[in-house]
Amino acid sequence: MLYRKVPKSGDELSILGFGCMRLPAPAGGSGIDEERAIRQLRYAIDHGVNYVDTAPAYHFGKSEKVLGRALEDGYREKVRLATKLPPWSVRSRGDMDRILDNQLAMLKTDHIDYYLLHSLTKESFERLKKLGVLEFLSAARKDGRIRNAGFSTHAELLTFKEIVDAYDWTFCQIQYNYLDEQNQAGTEGLKYAHGKNLAVMIMEPLRGGNLGGPVPEEVKKIWDASPVKRSPAQWALRWVWDHPEVTVVLSGMNDEGHIDENLKAAEDAYPRSLSADDLSRIALVRDEYKRLMKVGCTGCNYCMPCPAGVDIPGCFSLYNSRHLFPHDRSAKFQYLSRHGGLMGGVSYAGLCRACGKCEKACPQHLPIRDCLRDVSKEMEGGMRIIIPVLKGGLWCMDQAGKVKRIFFRGNRA
Ligand code: SF4
Ligand code: SF4
Repeated sequence: MLYRKVPKSGDELSILGFGCMRLPAPAGGSGIDEERAIRQLRYAIDHGVNYVDTAPAYHFGKSEKVLGRALEDGYREKVRLATKLPPWSVRSRGDMDRILDNQLAMLKTDHIDYYLLHSLTKESFERLKKLGVLEFLSAARKDGRIRNAGFSTHAELLTFKEIVDAYDWTFCQIQYNYLDEQNQAGTEGLKYAHGKNLAVMIMEPLRGGNLGGPVPEEVKKIWDASPVKRSPAQWALRWVWDHPEVTVVLSGMNDEGHIDENLKAAEDAYPRSLSADDLSRIALVRDEYKRLMKVGCTGCNYCMPCPAGVDIPGCFSLYNSRHLFPHDRSAKFQYLSRHGGLMGGVSYAGLCRACGKCEKACPQHLPIRDCLRDVSKEMEGGMRIIIPVLKGGLWCMDQAGKVKRIFFRGNRA
C-alpha cells in the first residue's frame, strides 16, 4: 500500500480508502451482511487501508453501526475515521451537536478524525452557515470531538470554489474519474483545492461501479489491445491516482475479489506513473464513451449559470449515465436527490424557461432546450411524489433516532 500526506494534519493516508456506502447484502436479501462486511473491512485494514469513510445516510443509518463494530478489537486505532453531518437532518445549531454525539456513540469512539458536511449544495451550505455550522465545526475541533473538518459536494465548479474559500478546511471530497474531468468540480476544482493546501478525497472513481463493471464491447476491445494488462476498474483507479493532487481514492467495496483487485492496483500507483501509451489508451476509451453518450455535453460550464436555476451539465451527466449504463438503476435516484431537492435546492431540467441564453454560450452548439425537455420527460416522472416520500423517510429516520436516545436516557435515569 502506498500512502499520501494530508498537508494540514500531516497524516499519512492510504491511497485506497474503504467507502462504506455499499456494504455487502445477505444472500438474496437486502440490508447488510454484518459478519461479511466486518471481515472485509478488517481484511482491507490488515492489508494497509487506513482511511474508512461512512455517513448516516448510508444503508439508512446502519453503515455507521456496522463500522463501529468492525473497528472494535483494536481496529479503531489502526485507521483514520471519516463520517458526515447530514444537512437535511439539521434544523438548528443544537441538532449538529446532537447528531455528532450520536455518531460518536454509534461508531464507539470519542472522536472523528475526518468530519464532513455531506453533499453540500449552494443552498444547503448557505442554510447551514446561517444556523452556525462553521462555529459548530470550530467548537467541535476545539473540544476534540472532531480532528479535521471538510466537506463533500457534487456542486459545479463556481460553488465548489466558494465553499473551499469559506472556511479553514483540512480536506474536501469530490467525484472524479476519467469521464468527469470537466463535470462538477473536475480537474480545475481538484487543482484549486490542492493549491489551497486541502487534501482531496475522491468518490465515484468508477462512476458508481460502472467503469469497472461489464463495459461496452467497443471499450473492451481498447483495453484488451493494451500490452499492459489491467482490469477496467484498475485502469480507472490508476487514472485517478496518477494525479499528484489526489490524496485518497474511496472505493465502495463489497466483494472479496474487488478488494484484492483494488489492493493490487494500489501497489504501484505513484503519481504520474502512467506511460504515454497508457494515457492515450484511456483517452481512446473516454472518446468511445463520449461517442456513445446521448447528449454530447463536455461539462465545460460555459452555459452556466442558468437564470432558472437548472444545473445543465449536471442534468446531462446523469441522463447520459442512464443511457450508457442501462443495467445501473441508480442514475435516476441520483438525479432526483441531486436536482430534485432531496439534498438541498432544486436544479432539475423541467425548470427551464426556454430563454435560449445557454445555447448562445455552448461551444458544442447543443440544442440545450430540446435536450432538457427529453431529460425532464425521462428523469422526472413521479418526482413530485418520490421527493416528499424520500424526505419523509429521512425525517422518520431522524425522529426514530431521537426517540431511541430519549428512551435510553430514561432507562439510565
Ligand atoms: S434556455 Fe433554459 S436552461 Fe437555458 S438558460 Fe434559459 S432557462 Fe436556463
Ligand atoms: S456549454 Fe454546452 S457543452 Fe458546456 S456544459 Fe453547457 S451544455 Fe455542456
